[in-house]
Amino acid sequence: MSGANFILLINVSVAGLLAASFMAVALHEAGRASPRWLAFGYLLGMVYFAIEFSIPAFDNARPVVVVAFAVFLGATIAFNGGLAHKYGVAPPWTPMLFFLVATSVAVYFVQDLPRQSLVRMMAYQLPYAVMQFIGLAIVWSSKQRHARLDRILMAVLAASGVQFASKPFIAHALGGWGANPQAYLQSSYALVSQSLGTVFGLALALLMLAILVRDLLAEVTSKSETDTLSRLLNRGGFTRRAELAVLGAVRQGVPVALVIADLDHFKSVNDSFGHASGDRVIETFAGFLREAAAGHHVSGRIGGEEFAIILPGTNLAAARLFAEGTRSAFSALPIDGLPADNRCTASFGVAELHPSEAFADLMRRADQALYQAKNAGRDCVRVSAGPDGNWSSAGIEAEARRV
Ligand code: GH3
Ligand code: MG
Ligand code: MG
Repeated sequence: MSGANFILLINVSVAGLLAASFMAVALHEAGRASPRWLAFGYLLGMVYFAIEFSIPAFDNARPVVVVAFAVFLGATIAFNGGLAHKYGVAPPWTPMLFFLVATSVAVYFVQDLPRQSLVRMMAYQLPYAVMQFIGLAIVWSSKQRHARLDRILMAVLAASGVQFASKPFIAHALGGWGANPQAYLQSSYALVSQSLGTVFGLALALLMLAILVRDLLAEVTSKSETDTLSRLLNRGGFTRRAELAVLGAVRQGVPVALVIADLDHFKSVNDSFGHASGDRVIETFAGFLREAAAGHHVSGRIGGEEFAIILPGTNLAAARLFAEGTRSAFSALPIDGLPADNRCTASFGVAELHPSEAFADLMRRADQALYQAKNAGRDCVRVSAGPDGNWSSAGIEAEARRV
């Protein structure tokens, strides 16, 4: 058996295994189209390698070559469909299928040209290059590509496209692609061409599997860190993200403040109007924080009716103003399901990170300030003026002492 033949058989098994892997992901992720299309793409790849392996056995190879070409191009189209679904881009099915038909017809007719003709080889290889570049354009146009893996995927798609486009020249450099299908499988070019197929097919599949797993993990983490009632981060999620935000602010040398809020006399809201009305109050307050958390603020529901928001780039005075604004807006707001004249209020504690502190210290001080707000009669804001009682970052000492 020739080297190229051996690699073709390996490719049949590798493509089959990859199709099975994507199918396993598709079964787990029944609602997602992306792994299904990727599985179909690699299944078509497997069929292509099997056809390519058996071409020398046909007396009239002409229609079989067209079928092999169309099946492999179909594989790249299905792969692009999987990419498009993964990256939230509308799959360009119509142009891709039209391209499939047009290039299959061309491949049928170019077989009248001499076997070593560059045009004949290009008609066979350039459509694959075009499909890889369409894949690249799909990822490029997506709003969801921001991580390193997405950039690596784009680089591999580009390299694969260049590889297909340069194959006619590689064939020429290596002494052609054989006088007939039998000779093709004995040629050095076939060995190189099929090996490149394995490398790129495998690299693209492994990247897509890594991207699917990455996004699945991110989704699971996000679900485990989100509170279902308020749709804010839960205590664990808030702590993790807030610690990161604090580290980021320290690294950039900007101030960072924490605001903790607790709804006032919330037990009596439940007792008077029922638990469902209490839930609506929590949702309404969370909505305020979610709006305020636009940008790089991090907000969470850290207890039953207790909330926290980290404000990177914000000093004590500005955080106090933020808390004051939230307090007065919330206390003026009629709440759905509660009597029209009923108003709910919240108390707030504010602290700014001291350079010597960790996030836990900041939490403790903001909590103490909240406690003071409760003791001062509720529906008010209190600030913590630093670990030693009189600190705040440059220019706001007077502001902090005044409260
Ligand atoms: P204070 O002004 O001192 O904060 O008084 P409070 O009544 O708000 O505080 P307390 O800690 O006594 O009561 C908190 C209440 O919040 C008790 C609990 O039933 C209620 N609660 C906690 N989680 C939820 C929730 O998810 N939904 C509803 N409706 N109520 C909740
Ligand atoms: Mg309360
Ligand atoms: Mg509470």
